[in-house]
Amino acid sequence: MTHHIFYNHQCSKCQAHYIPFKRGIVCPSCGIAENDFFDFIPQAKFSMQFNQKVFNSYIPPAWYTSSLGDHVLLTLFYLFENHKASNEPFEKFSNEFLSRKDWKDQKYLEKHIYEISLELYKALMNKDLLKDSEK
Ligand SMILES: [Zn+2]
Repeated sequence: MTHHIFYNHQCSKCQAHYIPFKRGIVCPSCGIAENDFFDFIPQAKFSMQFNQKVFNSYIPPAWYTSSLGDHVLLTLFYLFENHKASNEPFEKFSNEFLSRKDWKDQKYLEKHIYEISLELYKALMNKDLLKDSEK
């Protein structure tokens, strides 16, 4: 068993696929502001902690991608698992890891997933900080 995030969203203007993971976000491709919000970070955190606990790895032995949420999550699994063996600061590692990926026609996702990864890193590493920011 694994914890999936079934979520799809396309920009109403340019049709780019992205996750409005915080309020006030703009489309990473065309920059228009949309009112959509999907609370991706807590769910992603749960999914990753589940994998770590059950499989002793952020990457599950099998993963079926059926939505944008799962697609982004899979990239994050590999990013975080690879960072375990690195001594580099997370921000630098994430930036370089994502820049090596072949994004094809979804280059705008590189910076988008980078931003998601930083939020997720904070949530995973510093629970107290997260709680403070939620007050
Ligand atoms: Zn757009």
